[in-house]
Amino acid sequence: MSLTEIQSRISEACANAGRNPDEVTLIAVSKVQPNERVAAVLAEGHRCFGENRVQEAAGKWPDFQEEFGRVELHLIGPLQTNKARQAIDLFDVIHSVDRPKLAHTLARLRKETGHCPDLFIQVNTGEEDQKAGVMPADADAFIAECRDLNLPVIGLMCIPPADEEPSLHFALLAKIAKRNGLEKLSMGMSGDFETAIAQGATHVRVGSAIFGAREYDH
Ligand SMILES: *Cc1c(COP(=O)(O)O)cnc(C)c1O
Repeated sequence: MSLTEIQSRISEACANAGRNPDEVTLIAVSKVQPNERVAAVLAEGHRCFGENRVQEAAGKWPDFQEEFGRVELHLIGPLQTNKARQAIDLFDVIHSVDRPKLAHTLARLRKETGHCPDLFIQVNTGEEDQKAGVMPADADAFIAECRDLNLPVIGLMCIPPADEEPSLHFALLAKIAKRNGLEKLSMGMSGDFETAIAQGATHVRVGSAIFGAREYDH
């Protein structure tokens, strides 16, 4: 597959849902991909990318931005508090705020530096032990806590369990966002972004369908 093919599938999914394609941001998830593949998508003009790990992003994006100009960078993987400082310098948006300790660290850094990326709160809609994210039952209180800290929370993010119907999880995320007055929904990956768009996604995170399969072992 390719960038243009994914873009046209997004337009089609928007048309089917009666939505404007401008409402949906395509985050090209470049984690673990070889630099040639990322450079090719940059050369096609795409300027919005997602990474899972602060360290990996810090190792490649300054050079890419020197070569290709400004890129909007999204952190979509878990964030350790000891990497928060580096993360706010590197990323425009963080999708994985999921616990009070991290929220307090970001609030302190915001005071110190005068800036903070836009934030999504990650919700563990499948209540999976191994997955990050605030539990659905705790989401309202955590959103309120982040707002009390004056953090720029713009929406919610989820990663549905691999073996379940994603639309139930997308619907739950949309419902929690709506009752909290949050407009942005980061949901949908290579296998389910059209379903996510039908349910209101504003940010889809698509990796392998654009770049090809990830090779973790070399
Ligand atoms: C890797 C990753 C993606 C992209 O997954 P694909 O299936 O390759 O599209 C999206 N979101 C998160 C949080 C990821 O870690």
